[in-house]
Amino acid sequence: MTGVLDFHIHIRTLALTGSRDWPFIRGLNPELEAQLPAFASREGVEAALAAEGVAQAVVIPEVLPFSGSNITADFIAAYCRGSDRLIPFALFNPYDVTDLPAELRRQVDALGCRGLKLLPSYHHFYLTDRRLYPVYEEVEARGLPVMFHCGSSTFDRTLMRFCDPLQMDDLCRDFPDLVIVAAHGGRGFWYNEVTFLTRLHRNLYFDIAGLPPQKFLEFFPDLPRYADRILFGTDWPVVPHGRIRPHIAAVRALPIPPAAVEAILGGTARRLLRLA
Ligand SMILES: [Zn+2]
Repeated sequence: MTGVLDFHIHIRTLALTGSRDWPFIRGLNPELEAQLPAFASREGVEAALAAEGVAQAVVIPEVLPFSGSNITADFIAAYCRGSDRLIPFALFNPYDVTDLPAELRRQVDALGCRGLKLLPSYHHFYLTDRRLYPVYEEVEARGLPVMFHCGSSTFDRTLMRFCDPLQMDDLCRDFPDLVIVAAHGGRGFWYNEVTFLTRLHRNLYFDIAGLPPQKFLEFFPDLPRYADRILFGTDWPVVPHGRIRPHIAAVRALPIPPAAVEAILGGTARRLLRLA
């Protein structure tokens, strides 16, 4: 498949999203409650994405113990089953699981997840926690990407020190063949750290989910130098008015060659996900 691939979307339902997160979500996308019927089925989401010019999307679970969001990998995998447009990711809270590599294998082999998302700042563990090393070994051996939330968040009891991107320097050296994705590009005050590390380590990538498109070049002034490490993502449907097209247009307007634009909008993601 060709076309735009959004590397970072969520499924939102009133029942599964933590009520304490709704004020923030509604603030960013006041139309979301009117758009919720689209989430009743994967066909509704596929149609909503197609209307915004998106062909495929990575769907990220979101389990937030302090706000009550409980959008599990099992739910996401069942939701995406049978779709060639929606690509489910694995996710677990390391404190909820005893045998971490076994849980990863279950979510990949039995559920069909195509990558792993971890939430250090919400679940309060460090990326370099040695309990996770057998998981990274497994993810690396299978050639799957691992994505870490990396940046600010207004969600309840976010502790940013746990997602400090400097830890990715350790991981990139300890797992040189592990594809690591820093979600949100270090949103807040880590853009420079993330892009420096991206240029230092060939296995580090970042997505631009949850960033205002008019600020891409302000946040990443040297963007042409590492455009091959950037993955298009939005955090949809929590984007202004639920619109993805303005984000796509902003990428197309960047001062980089057309081939680099296409790489950001889907080419690099398909290579990492082995969809190409
Ligand atoms: Zn997200």
